[in-house]
Amino acid sequence: MAPKKHSGFMMFVNEWRDRNAEGRRMTIAQAVSHCGSIWEKMTVQQRGPYNSGAKDADVRERAKTERLNCHGQAVSQVELAQREAAESLMHMKRTIERIVMDAKRSHDLENTKFVFAAFNFFTKAVNADIYVPAEFAACEYSLKEGIRSIYSSLIDPGQIIFGQGSDAKHHSSTTHNLPLPPNALGEKNMAKLYRNIVGYLAKCQGDQLIVFTPSENITMVKSCFQYLACEDEDDARDGGQRIQVFDIQYLLFILKKEVLDIAGLPDESINKFVTDAFFTKDFFEFTPEIACQFHEENDRTKYCTQSMVTRWAYTFSDFMCGDLAITVQPGKHIPPKTKPSYRIIPSDASSLAPDSSFDSFYSLPGSRVKKENQSRDTSPTGSRRSVASSSYAPTDHTAFTADLNEVGEFPSLGGRRPTRAAGVSAERNTGAWNLPRHSRPLQKLSDNDFSVNGTEKKNQK
Ligand SMILES: [Zn+2]
Repeated sequence: MAPKKHSGFMMFVNEWRDRNAEGRRMTIAQAVSHCGSIWEKMTVQQRGPYNSGAKDADVRERAKTERLNCHGQAVSQVELAQREAAESLMHMKRTIERIVMDAKRSHDLENTKFVFAAFNFFTKAVNADIYVPAEFAACEYSLKEGIRSIYSSLIDPGQIIFGQGSDAKHHSSTTHNLPLPPNALGEKNMAKLYRNIVGYLAKCQGDQLIVFTPSENITMVKSCFQYLACEDEDDARDGGQRIQVFDIQYLLFILKKEVLDIAGLPDESINKFVTDAFFTKDFFEFTPEIACQFHEENDRTKYCTQSMVTRWAYTFSDFMCGDLAITVQPGKHIPPKTKPSYRIIPSDASSLAPDSSFDSFYSLPGSRVKKENQSRDTSPTGSRRSVASSSYAPTDHTAFTADLNEVGEFPSLGGRRPTRAAGVSAERNTGAWNLPRHSRPLQKLSDNDFSVNGTEKKNQK
């Protein structure tokens, strides 16, 4: 609301009331009507001082009141906050670019170390960015060596924010599943934990402590560091600000661009959206045995911070080691062991070529499993092998390939079918649905294995 304007007439009324005893006895309304008759008879010159006094009062008023936005916040404060946010974002981007460019200039990009960090939290304050940490993990990574070291700890903050027990319970049960305080596990001394973390980061990077985390978690990770730092008297000055938290997705984007530049590959198809999509795909989401013991046992490895930082490292290796011709080592660049059912089998070499830099590790030449699979297909295992199933190579998991006109593709429960057709269709269906390849080869299945279809069995007998 704009401040009320002063009028010359009211200035005159106030002055008149101050000067005359009878005026002080009058109410405002009486004084106004009394002064109205005097004001009418006054000349412009006589009214002048009052009018200019009113104007001065307006200016003074305007200068001292703050303009507010529709939420009642001072506009200048909001603008300042916005400017600071924009500046810190710019600072982050410039710093990431500088780190990568410096490394590239000294021909040492593949040995440059980065630290990825992640927090889980119990609860967040309703109207402030205060998070109560539950688990922390950091991982030291370079393209050449993959994961160099990992720091991981569960955190017992002792208490959670008053009145947020239900929220915390819900958050925990839907994500990391860690027991809430007072039953929480792990490190109880926040100050000690903070010193340990700072010590670990300093060992990895020296003076400048920078950790990388996904864009959406930056605020949370910053706040968790502050939470730990505020109980540390020695380090209270820095208030957790000593550790800078940067965007891992922007790092991936810049790194990928420079890596392609070094490798002399075209990078027109690389932009932030492409690298973000690759990162958020989280290809290694179900990798076993990379989480902490608690999360392995509780089957919540996806939410385990140790698993997260490890997966980010795998994602980085997967995305860039191929371009730099770095040999990937299991356990450092890629999961220590892979389950056969995870493998994605490319249909043929031609489908790989156009976007080879987007393929995941499993489609890199070294790990291609196409050959063994094909040789298995062509081995003579049964007289009723159909041409369709042997030449079939799964490409798309979402597409269902079947001949709608062929009756055999859709077995009806009570329907009568020749035995031979049943065999062919069973085999074709397994191919078409692209079921995971199990240790038991599909070819060895006999009709009797399909015991779901009871009526069919009877017909055969
Ligand atoms: Zn964990």
